[in-house]
Amino acid sequence: MTSSLADLAKRFTDIVPLKPPVDPATLTHKQLVEVPDFRRIPAYKDVTDAQFLDHHWQAKHSITRPDKLLNALRDLVSAEFIQDATEGFSHAPMSVRVSPYLLSLIDWSDPYKDPLRTQFIPLRSRMLPDHPKLGLDSLHEREDAPVAGLTHRYIDKALFLPLDTCPVYCRFCTRSYAVGVDTEEVEKTHFKVDEERWAKAFAYIASRPELEDIVVSGGDAYNLRAEQIRQIGDALLAIDHIQRIRIATKGPAVMPQKILTDHDWVDAVTQVVEAGRKLHKEVVVHTHFNHPNEITGITRDAMNRLFERGITVRNQSVMQRGVNDTPEVMRLLVKRLGHVHVHPYYVYVHDLVKGTEDLRTTVSTAITVEKHVRGSTAGFNTPTFVVDAPGGGGKRDAHSFEHYDRTTGISVYQAPSVKPGKLFVYFDPIDQLPEEGRTRWADPAQHEVMLEEALAKARAGLRW
Ligand code: SF4
Repeated sequence: MTSSLADLAKRFTDIVPLKPPVDPATLTHKQLVEVPDFRRIPAYKDVTDAQFLDHHWQAKHSITRPDKLLNALRDLVSAEFIQDATEGFSHAPMSVRVSPYLLSLIDWSDPYKDPLRTQFIPLRSRMLPDHPKLGLDSLHEREDAPVAGLTHRYIDKALFLPLDTCPVYCRFCTRSYAVGVDTEEVEKTHFKVDEERWAKAFAYIASRPELEDIVVSGGDAYNLRAEQIRQIGDALLAIDHIQRIRIATKGPAVMPQKILTDHDWVDAVTQVVEAGRKLHKEVVVHTHFNHPNEITGITRDAMNRLFERGITVRNQSVMQRGVNDTPEVMRLLVKRLGHVHVHPYYVYVHDLVKGTEDLRTTVSTAITVEKHVRGSTAGFNTPTFVVDAPGGGGKRDAHSFEHYDRTTGISVYQAPSVKPGKLFVYFDPIDQLPEEGRTRWADPAQHEVMLEEALAKARAGLRW
């Protein structure tokens, strides 16, 4: 307490505390690792702080091949883990890219349990068979795409994918059909940076006066050059009916250094935000933190830099088993995000993505976690927990199902303002179901029967 505050406290000795003061040691959301202990990774033992804090160094030393990644870890983890991960990569639909920063945040003394390892390094021993109803592009983004890389599903908003690369590749990516290089498992639909394709997307957006809101995603806007950010911003802001632009990037969670050292990129984003403000249009950044360990002192400094420039940052998390599927971890994540000026906006129940069954949780887990998070901080900093309805229903409040059978794990949703009259179905992971549900899914003849039962109950208005 400063002396003037101490004097003030002395003046009002008659304040009767209704609650005992909270022990500051329990305010864990404020306790950040300033800079991760990167030198404990043998490959980085001679790296200087200045190098580690520079985005060029981080980008140049990001690892893009499983064998190189595992080589960098060889002295830190067991041979059994290396073998497990080698086999995991050969069965994964996603490419590999991890920054030294990300590797430094992982607890290599217990890599099987670490929540960041879980998100980025697949292990064969943890993999489960895909759900029989699962497919790539479960959200049917390509079906709602009038131009390659532009999805127009909701009336007033569209999703523009200007490129197909990211500063990191996440095991659980919804766009694993397009993002990153081809893998042994998947040959992808590529959305390369292509002026002609971009021009077509802008022409479509200009031709649709109902569009007000454009999400610029990818891939990842971190990988756009400063002049490309300006080019996209200028083109979209010049369209009269566009009122809002969201620039989506996972970068702050995996390489916050860029915001502190890539002045050109940050200036470009700032210029688009300011140009938008003068035109009374909102331009914001959307990002993607999933676990409180992803937020360090470097993140705080990076977010403060955007905050000083008046840039709003919102977060969209994905709920994942063993990562953030408990009330304690999710509460800490939400509070920590608020602490570094990032608004927790959505928590998605994990999409039906190939090769990620071990990461998915049930809808009922999401509902329970939401119940515990709501009320732990201000409402505007409390995320909405949603299911992105497979088949193109868009985001539905997790608890807004028409019908949910916890035995078969089938939940049914409606999206009257997106696709009126249609029912959308989400499937809980089979290994999390009670025995009766697992037995029914083991019999292919039961699959359609279970689905029809659930749809019939939804139509009859039976929630359970
Ligand atoms: S950063 Fe986003 S788009 Fe890129 S791999 Fe991860 S989830 Fe997918």
